[in-house]
Amino acid sequence: NKQVILRDYVSGFPKESDFELRTSKIRLNVAQGSKSVLVKNLYLSCDPYMRGRMRNPIGTSPITGDGVARVIDSGHPNFKKGDLVWGMPGMTAYIGFYEVGSPKEGEYVFVSAASGAVGQLVGQFAKLKNCYVVGSAGSKEKFTSVCVANIKFPDHNFCCFRHVLFNLRLPDGIDIYFENVGGKMLDAVLLNMRLHGRIPVCGMISQYNLEETEGVHNLFCLITKRVRMEGFAVFDHYSLYPKYLDTVLPLIREGKITYVEDIAEGLENAPKALIGLFSGRNIGKQVVLVARE
Ligand code: NDP
Repeated sequence: NKQVILRDYVSGFPKESDFELRTSKIRLNVAQGSKSVLVKNLYLSCDPYMRGRMRNPIGTSPITGDGVARVIDSGHPNFKKGDLVWGMPGMTAYIGFYEVGSPKEGEYVFVSAASGAVGQLVGQFAKLKNCYVVGSAGSKEKFTSVCVANIKFPDHNFCCFRHVLFNLRLPDGIDIYFENVGGKMLDAVLLNMRLHGRIPVCGMISQYNLEETEGVHNLFCLITKRVRMEGFAVFDHYSLYPKYLDTVLPLIREGKITYVEDIAEGLENAPKALIGLFSGRNIGKQVVLVARE
């Protein structure tokens, strides 16, 4: 059994040398009478929140996270051998956009990190709600990948690069800003908000590796524009999981929702894949393929 262990406390941007690959022995069955489930990991998910777990020395425990796995033994009544169990960014997009953003048809939506795991779904949900969508991403290649995946931002919408927005005044303003980035991006967006706008605050990735967070100068716009800015954590909303599946699974089957994945192969490449999230190396949802069936 391979494990990725964090060597020590990480300050600033994490490096590959902060991680170590080790092997260890694990039980390969569930103890008699136990309600545990034993799974074989197929894909591991690299997520920005994992940075928050690197602030304190972790010692010898493996870094934990989500993924997709096959149940190979189970003492739990809700899981049987052969079941697939899996992760959360689609649910994050769903909760943030529909439940926190309260979108209405025809509204103007802006999403940062638009080609990422969460952002690429927010863009599609907004389009399905007949909103006008603008997204930002770090490179031309990322826009191309989003378009190739047929996310189909409508013709009258456009995407812009991270740095371009800083000097941009959007002519029609923004009703919903789906916040993934924080810092200068949030500051620039605040100036562009419309009256009674909403900002589902999903994440602020630009701040995660800073020892001291950057100042936001335009917070007063929350008052002058009567904007509702609301933080949310997907974990508080899992009671809505069945509603999420009822909404999204038919859309995937009908081809109305698609997704871009960035697949790194082998657990030994997991640290590089995880670190890549903070420099924008990933295109789409970053996962690590650790076993084929
Ligand atoms: P992504 O797949 O979007 O990957 C991260 C992306 O963030 C990078 O590819 C890059 O995109 C962008 N980025 C990285 N560093 C910076 C920077 N310094 N400045 C601006 N952009 C940067 O990640 P996820 O979709 O998984 O996560 C998106 C956000 O959602 C994160 O902030 C995360 O913490 C948050 N989140 C919140 C949850 C909740 O419950 N509230 C649950 C899950 C995620 P690009 O190069 O295109 O700019």
